[in-house]
Amino acid sequence: MVALDVPLNRLFGYAIGNLDPHVGQRVIVPFGPRQLSGIVIERRSDAGEFVGKTRNILAIRDDLPALPPETLALCQFVADYYHHPLGAVLSSALPTVFRNVPAFKSPAPACVYYAPDVAILLAQISARAHAQRRVAQALEQPYTPAALRRLHDSGLKWAKLWAEKGWVQTAAESTVLAEPTPNLPLNAEQATAVAALSAAHGFAPFLLYGITGSGKTEVYLQTIAAVLGRGEQVLVLIPEINLTPQLEGRFRARFPGVQMSCLHSGLNDTERAVNWLAALSGEAKIVLGTRLAIFTPLPHLGMIVVDEEHDPSFKQQEGLRYSARDVAVYRARSAQVPIVLGSATPSIESWANAKAGRYQMLTLAERAVPGAVLPKITLLPVKKAGLIDGFNRMAFAAMHEALARGEQVLVFINRRGYSPVLQCGECGWMASCKHCSARLVLHLRDRSLRCHHCGFEEPITHACPDCGNQDLKPVGQGTQRLEESLATHFPGKTILRIDRDSTRRKGEMDAALAQVHSGEADILIGTQMLAKGHDFDRLNLVIALNADTGLFSVDFRAEERLFALLTQVAGRAGRRETPGEVMIQTAFADHPFYHQLLGRDYAPFANRTLIERTEMLLPPAAAWVLFRAEAPDIEHALQILQLIRACFERLAPEFLLPLTLNHPVAATMVKKAGVERAQLLIAAEQRAQLQRALHQAMPHIEVIKCGKGRWTLDVDPIEV
Ligand code: ADP
Ligand code: ZN
Ligand code: ZN
Repeated sequence: MVALDVPLNRLFGYAIGNLDPHVGQRVIVPFGPRQLSGIVIERRSDAGEFVGKTRNILAIRDDLPALPPETLALCQFVADYYHHPLGAVLSSALPTVFRNVPAFKSPAPACVYYAPDVAILLAQISARAHAQRRVAQALEQPYTPAALRRLHDSGLKWAKLWAEKGWVQTAAESTVLAEPTPNLPLNAEQATAVAALSAAHGFAPFLLYGITGSGKTEVYLQTIAAVLGRGEQVLVLIPEINLTPQLEGRFRARFPGVQMSCLHSGLNDTERAVNWLAALSGEAKIVLGTRLAIFTPLPHLGMIVVDEEHDPSFKQQEGLRYSARDVAVYRARSAQVPIVLGSATPSIESWANAKAGRYQMLTLAERAVPGAVLPKITLLPVKKAGLIDGFNRMAFAAMHEALARGEQVLVFINRRGYSPVLQCGECGWMASCKHCSARLVLHLRDRSLRCHHCGFEEPITHACPDCGNQDLKPVGQGTQRLEESLATHFPGKTILRIDRDSTRRKGEMDAALAQVHSGEADILIGTQMLAKGHDFDRLNLVIALNADTGLFSVDFRAEERLFALLTQVAGRAGRRETPGEVMIQTAFADHPFYHQLLGRDYAPFANRTLIERTEMLLPPAAAWVLFRAEAPDIEHALQILQLIRACFERLAPEFLLPLTLNHPVAATMVKKAGVERAQLLIAAEQRAQLQRALHQAMPHIEVIKCGKGRWTLDVDPIEV
């Protein structure tokens, strides 16, 4: 029986002919007129009845060693829990090259580049070639080709050139025996955490709750050293945006000579396959990757680390909608290894698990750098009349002072573009997307109106289509408009805008970060991309605009996210000896949310939120699944969901009774990218009850005829 990535939820039987395929091996089989790559799941000797009807397996591909039983079992669990075909799960789990029919030819082993003496290298490079100098400086530590390309578009090209001249050396990764960066002497809390983690045996889940800058990474590093010392492998999961070459460098520098595999979207298919194979063979001792790395086979897995475990990017939002954090906990349990979930603002789910004693909580309440204190948070009222270009006067004053001291300032606004609305001053018309129930965002740079939901773009309209008025006004502020107004208020200062538009091309994000580190930028304007994981030396003042938008959302998790985001933004400020300051502009200074944020302690917020969720039977006090349907018109979408609901209504009472069957409703944003959307929420007190009911109902749901519409299932949705 072979699992194939086709939209049918079953396995396919093939005869083995004169081949001898083993379970877990990759095989090529005929499928209709095509050939497909699949994975052998089971061998049956009693297949006599199929003889004559079944076609033969065409080939065994030994470019991929047979997947170990643990990997197959993990994929099977994911397939069952998220109700997704096993073939599709395996296909998401494997690097692309192993989904193709042609065999993968492994290239020569990758090497790392490093400069034995950076001073000699730097002496060869013009003082004005800033980008080249940055890359050269980085080569103090060994860099893989992939990491070099992420550092700069031409990073690898330069390194090769320098290698030819003899200023830079190459070596097989595991043979670079630089001096490891020394362990930092731990403070008492860190020491307790490292001791508990290193001593853990078998399945032991930990929640490492440590404020930003408390030295969680150092705890991971020293714990990992202990695990490596036992000859075991470590899997470290991080949110995509945190996986900067700098973090990779920090790991490599601590463990020179230890082979490490990175797995993230910055790699090409070949690199990903090579790194993945190194993990499977056991050669790579550390696997550092984003959510998809959770499926990497690791024969000697000894520990899993999930950093920033609250981060929504651990949940895949399309196709196989899995939560890499949840799957990681399952995996740690089946592999009987410890797992540590780390965060300054843990998800309420993990918080509840720790409160209930299912996870052991380890707390880091102090900043790690001696003398570094938490930034001071001030709320600044937003009164329309008193604002200058969207800023409270005090914010401007603080910016002037910080810049005068030679420091950097970060202005945080979670909205890219020039302004979120283009409005007619006469009749109130607003530019909106033809395909979505959403406004078009004004992008002045390329003189366009753009939809941030479907990508639709059109030139700026110069007259109101309703009344002909030519006086169309941008309303509200985005990153681009902010950049423009700050340029007039702070002439002579270098302003750097970091958002999805300014970092669209590969390498731009890393280049921008390097510019911040080198001190070239005075004022940074950033969206949430900049909130996370970066450590800026000279940044002591952060100003957050339009934070309130998260407070009154239909999504019950919005406050939790806002707390995490503002904590992270605040964490950017004053990470060294100078105390930082965060100013948040708000119209709702009395909201309990801000009281708790000012209290600088996530625990009261998390406890209050958990109580609210329990009272209102919201996750994690309940388990949810969400069916989403989309169709050309909303009635059709609602009708599909009615049919799905009916499949549950027909279940036997033992399955039906624990369920709360809601009614299908239109999605908050009904129209998106030209289709209309609705959703159906089904809840139960416990996940197991919900799973049992789903397993009963799914066979009936899968055969529903949807016409021009379609549905998807999201188990444990994080966006509703
Ligand atoms: P977190 O991941 O909790 O935000 P990091 O691990 O990045 O924190 O540590 C923040 C800073 O503190 C880093 O510059 C790190 O080098 C430093 N640091 C961590 N642990 C110690 C320690 N025990 N003594 C001194 N500095 C430390
Ligand atoms: Zn008008
Ligand atoms: Zn749109």
